[in-house]
Amino acid sequence: MNFADRVDFSKKMIEVATVVGRAIDDVEISAYFTRLAEYPLDLVCKAFDRALDDRDHEDIYLATLIPTDNEIQKAISAILAEEGGPDATIGCEKCKGTGFIMGERKNGSVVAGRCECLLATIEMRKKYSPKDKKKEG
Ligand SMILES: [Zn+2]
Repeated sequence: MNFADRVDFSKKMIEVATVVGRAIDDVEISAYFTRLAEYPLDLVCKAFDRALDDRDHEDIYLATLIPTDNEIQKAISAILAEEGGPDATIGCEKCKGTGFIMGERKNGSVVAGRCECLLATIEMRKKYSPKDKKKEG
């Protein structure tokens, strides 16, 4: 997320707070924003929904809490494990979503190459892979 996502992120957090029956202030939103800034906005939004869904609905107390960033991180890992990462190839006009583009060598022979969108997806997967997630601290 970048600074431009701050407004949409705030809206999402207020929505989540409303779902659990809480109020949230700007200080709390900022804290979450900072902690989750490394992830794309759409992924963070999905993770909030996922974290709420993944809860034990029998637990009345838990149901009144905004998901912690730990819950969000778990949800992000779960989403990426299922989806294999944010898929940037979908809707790509250059390769029509295949991830590959046909190029031509100097000698005229045709060669299939990876499209920019596929390369971007691979980078994203590396970055968000829960296995080799770099330790912070
Ligand atoms: Zn493409």
